[in-house]
Amino acid sequence: MAAASQTKTYRMWIDGKWVEALSGATRDLFDPGSGELIARVPEGSQKDMSLAVDAARQAFDQGAWRKVSALDRGKLLFKVANAIRNESQFLAELEVRNCGKPLAEAEFDVADAANCFEFYAGLATKIHGQTLSVPANSVSYVVREPVGVCGQIIPWNYPLMMAAWKLAPALAAGNVCVLKPSELTPLTALELARIIEAVGIPPGVVNIVTGPGVGAGDELASSPKVDKIAFTGGTATGRKIMLGATSNLKKISLELGGKNPNIVFADADFEAAVDGALFGAFANQGEVCSAGSRLLVEKSIHSALIAAILKKIPRIKLGHGLTPGVKMGPLISSDHRQKVENYIKIGIKEGATLLCGGQRPSGAEFEAGNFLEPTIFDHVSPQMRIAREEIFGPVLSVIPFETEEQAIQIANDTEYGLAAGVWTKNVNRGLRVMNQIRAGIVWLNTYHPTFNEMPWGGYKQSGIGRELGLYGIEGYLEIKQININLDETPIGWY
Ligand code: NDP
Repeated sequence: MAAASQTKTYRMWIDGKWVEALSGATRDLFDPGSGELIARVPEGSQKDMSLAVDAARQAFDQGAWRKVSALDRGKLLFKVANAIRNESQFLAELEVRNCGKPLAEAEFDVADAANCFEFYAGLATKIHGQTLSVPANSVSYVVREPVGVCGQIIPWNYPLMMAAWKLAPALAAGNVCVLKPSELTPLTALELARIIEAVGIPPGVVNIVTGPGVGAGDELASSPKVDKIAFTGGTATGRKIMLGATSNLKKISLELGGKNPNIVFADADFEAAVDGALFGAFANQGEVCSAGSRLLVEKSIHSALIAAILKKIPRIKLGHGLTPGVKMGPLISSDHRQKVENYIKIGIKEGATLLCGGQRPSGAEFEAGNFLEPTIFDHVSPQMRIAREEIFGPVLSVIPFETEEQAIQIANDTEYGLAAGVWTKNVNRGLRVMNQIRAGIVWLNTYHPTFNEMPWGGYKQSGIGRELGLYGIEGYLEIKQININLDETPIGWY
């Protein structure tokens, strides 16, 4: 592991100023892999959030930002992308210390955040309206305008990437933002605010408020001064956000949880499917909304696939994310580990077969962190809680199936609809199955890749709306019809 970090005291970024919480309250943040104190951040409350919303409102209604051209907004966002790249190693290591993921995954996230700013920097100048054919003596056209003040609330599993997915499209479209990171992982978002200040984005256009969901977050969701709320997090929280948003019927987009099927047919490339099953379930410690946490396996290859998976499990090296060769880090907090362990107890009680894991790893290097072994349950029935509820940790439920129809039925038998994987060499079967799965992304012979240029979001209770790609900017735009009469004669109606 790299040398111990120094504890840094952060401030929040509100109205172009670095401020403490009004109450003076702070929160200590600990490295989830070592237990070491890494930072102290302001514990913002409803009052701090209210100030940030006022600043954003002022910046949108009266500030200079509305007069900044799309070209210049794009140039600023390109600068943000470049600055993230210039600091990529620092940001990746900070992300590891704050949320625990292995360094290679954090490096990927930082690169993705830079790419996201770059994509939307280019898109800023491609937000076009429409001119329509209307009766003579009239002109009518459509302009697309920013929604206004955007409240953005993000979770702890991809802190910098989620901040980029929220801020980049909103700013490209000319909005102003108040972003609330998870109280557990605000550090890279605060470093991003420093970058945003340095490139010259005007005060009040981006505000980052640290603090808990209940207090700071719900104030943002319910404030009548906020025009749109964009949320990524759990489905239960999403419901509360939606209720808060009714105060002024603000626009809303929700990216929520998943219980995603990863379906392996007997005719799949066997080795590729083994890798895909493991990567789908255990990347980022399984703390992934799109994790392939239900492995549906055709019965004829069930035993062979399980044997091959178990053979590879020892290759998932556990440890601190900065230790070379580590493939799985600690869980985000001891509370969260406890929640995942409870699900393991539930799985055993429900009668599923525990094939591996289920324990905290032993050894001095694991004592201070929130480590948990990769865990696999076999013979899981679709009705068990471990097959239906999002565990959000390194727990894989294996469900055998006999026919293609049955696989599709089990895959869709969930309240969620975020992601799915299909493994087969039969292209017709692959397309047939993908067509019938109700999810926002379906992978064939791969698992997890997604692109900033393509949409991201869920069916059913996995969310409302889409982020990323051309679709992602739509949620940050209003549409206005301009209707002009060229005939000066009174209409003579009365
Ligand atoms: P939570 O829903 O607990 O929290 C998400 C964010 O919402 C945090 O910033 C949290 O604040 C805030 N929050 C909590 N309660 C409220 C409230 N009443 N009002 C306003 N804001 C609130 O999710 P987790 O952070 O535990 O993240 C895990 C969840 O996120 C999983 O369900 C996962 O599936 C989902 N997720 C979805 C993704 C997608 O793209 N669909 C991507 C990544 C994660 P705080 O924690 O600081 O109190």
